[in-house]
Amino acid sequence: MRSFEHDTGSPRVVFGTGTLARVASELARVGGRRALVLSTPGQGGLAARVAGVLGDAAAGTFDGAAEHTPVEVTGVALARAREVGADSLVSVGGGSTTGLGKALASRTGMPHLVVPTTYAGSEVTALLGETADGEKVTRSGPEILPAVVVYDVALTTTLPWPVTVTSAVNAMAHAVEALYSPDRTTQVDGLATEGLEALARGLRALHRDAEDLGARDDLLYGAWLAGRCLGAVRMGLHHKLCHTLGGSFGLAHAPTHTVVLPHAMAYNATAAPEAMAAAAGALGVDDAPCGLQALVAGLGGPTRLDALGFSLADVPRAADLATARPYPNPRAVQRDGIRHLLTRATEGAAID
Ligand code: NAD
Repeated sequence: MRSFEHDTGSPRVVFGTGTLARVASELARVGGRRALVLSTPGQGGLAARVAGVLGDAAAGTFDGAAEHTPVEVTGVALARAREVGADSLVSVGGGSTTGLGKALASRTGMPHLVVPTTYAGSEVTALLGETADGEKVTRSGPEILPAVVVYDVALTTTLPWPVTVTSAVNAMAHAVEALYSPDRTTQVDGLATEGLEALARGLRALHRDAEDLGARDDLLYGAWLAGRCLGAVRMGLHHKLCHTLGGSFGLAHAPTHTVVLPHAMAYNATAAPEAMAAAAGALGVDDAPCGLQALVAGLGGPTRLDALGFSLADVPRAADLATARPYPNPRAVQRDGIRHLLTRATEGAAID
């Protein structure tokens, strides 16, 4: 008997190269007249450029977005939005900036336009993970879903290679966990496999030629498809582990996904053979967990958690936190098994 949750809510999407020129008309379409333009500190220059493109429709900029959406930063940005009389929000950047935009939109009801510059996929989900007092709590709701997404491939060419690799594997994680989600449908399977194909093709091509704009196009397109998987169905063990490592141990989001994904896939492999076969086919490898780990290593991506600031001494608490509440996963989540998985990921053990 079928039983699933499938959330098809989706923002309007404009995808292309040079689409930043559309940002003012797209903002006006959702009723924005005076937008606060958000970014991380590193992308303040890009935020100023977007404000320039918006012209009179820009109320000001705020470049303090931070990873894992700390509520303190949201409070400061909210004060800035009020100070400049903003009636709308434009997030320019990766998942950190989009998270801040979602936090503000959900508190104020302001229309939110996102210009993504990484492959995180947050822009097409109604999910928001906020961090307060050292714990990251995720909530979801229609008020969190952005109104419009303007994907401009040209803005992703500045993404450094290490961030490109980890962010693309972060996107792959959404697709992989969708393939074994209890909520999966044939529609989601299609999004996931096409997304994995585009992401793997894009990474390999960009590794050969760093200037390949077609590869950047594949990566952003794959990120959109993978983000829709994340928005549509519930995720499993892998996302729970990364959420714990990011929210409670301060580990960087995309690098953590990159190290953990092959290990989480190996943990689930025997319980989800069809999903692993589909993932292997889409990634162009013989065995999905081994092949993904080899792909990441070949691209120079991170393969061990201890290089990201996690230590073996942290394993027991992380395993306790990651197994404290139930969530859907093809294989039963047991603390000893999770300790073993985290130990291997910390030491960078090869998947066998
Ligand atoms: P990020 O947004 O922190 O970006 C990483 C770094 O890359 C930042 O320093 C940023 O300034 C820089 N950067 C981004 N785009 C760039 C570009 N084109 N050129 C040069 N530099 C660029 O990292 P992220 O991995 O995109 O997002 C991580 C955050 O997003 C986490 O807080 C995570 O929880 C959240 N997230 C949420 C969802 C969701 O659905 N709610 C989904 C995925 C990620």
